[in-house]
Amino acid sequence: MMETELEKTTKLYEGKAKELWETSDDSLLISYFKDDITAGNGDKKDSMLRKGILNQNICTTIYEYLNECDLVTHSIRSAGPREQVVKKLKIIPVEVIVRNFAAGSICKRYNLEKGYKFKTPLLELFYKDDSLNDPLVVKDLVIEMGWASAFELAEISRQAHVINQKMIYFWQQYGIQLVDQKFEFGIDNDSNIMLGDEITPDTQRLWNKDGESLDKDIFREGNNLDQVQSVYQYISDLVCK
Ligand code: 5GP
Repeated sequence: MMETELEKTTKLYEGKAKELWETSDDSLLISYFKDDITAGNGDKKDSMLRKGILNQNICTTIYEYLNECDLVTHSIRSAGPREQVVKKLKIIPVEVIVRNFAAGSICKRYNLEKGYKFKTPLLELFYKDDSLNDPLVVKDLVIEMGWASAFELAEISRQAHVINQKMIYFWQQYGIQLVDQKFEFGIDNDSNIMLGDEITPDTQRLWNKDGESLDKDIFREGNNLDQVQSVYQYISDLVCK
């Protein structure tokens, strides 16, 4: 099929920052990046001019890099300023967080100092359920509840660590430290497990060499949308040459 023939048909899902649309091709979806910005499970919500455009740019560039690293992901291509063509996946309802440095929820949970460097990247699993505030879960519960099998969990963990290493290198090129990030994985029609969802400053914590945030923490912790926008613009300009 020619690239230009792919059309959005019905809206499958609307999340806090994106919409997912069925397309004229059964195996492909279009991910539409909105301007909405939220924090604290939607308790704090605003709209940031051009956020969807900036995040689509950043996300597409990161996925192009990961695909060039021979990793299998859901991303096919950009489809305009706010849209990305992705493979249709059955998303596993487990958020995979990989942390290189302590920040955010783990500092509160274990009274850890912000910036503590983990000796090896730390992987945590959270059950993806807004009504429960995405609780931390152990592997055995994920298997017990059938959210993922032991094999799927092992494969997800393996891929998450590989992607984390690739992403550390990606950001190092720009003098940026990758603090942590959230991944979501899914399974395609041929039973392949692969990375899905977005990778943007909404889902990754990024610090410059002075330890200043270049990500959604600026929104989580403050009220200056102009500052958030200039940081997202900076990241987009940096990676989207
Ligand atoms: P924390 O557990 O410290 O809140 O988040 C760890 C990392 O995962 C951060 O980079 C954060 O942006 C990302 N993250 C965790 N949960 C979510 C979520 O529900 N949505 C998004 N966009 N990112 C999340």
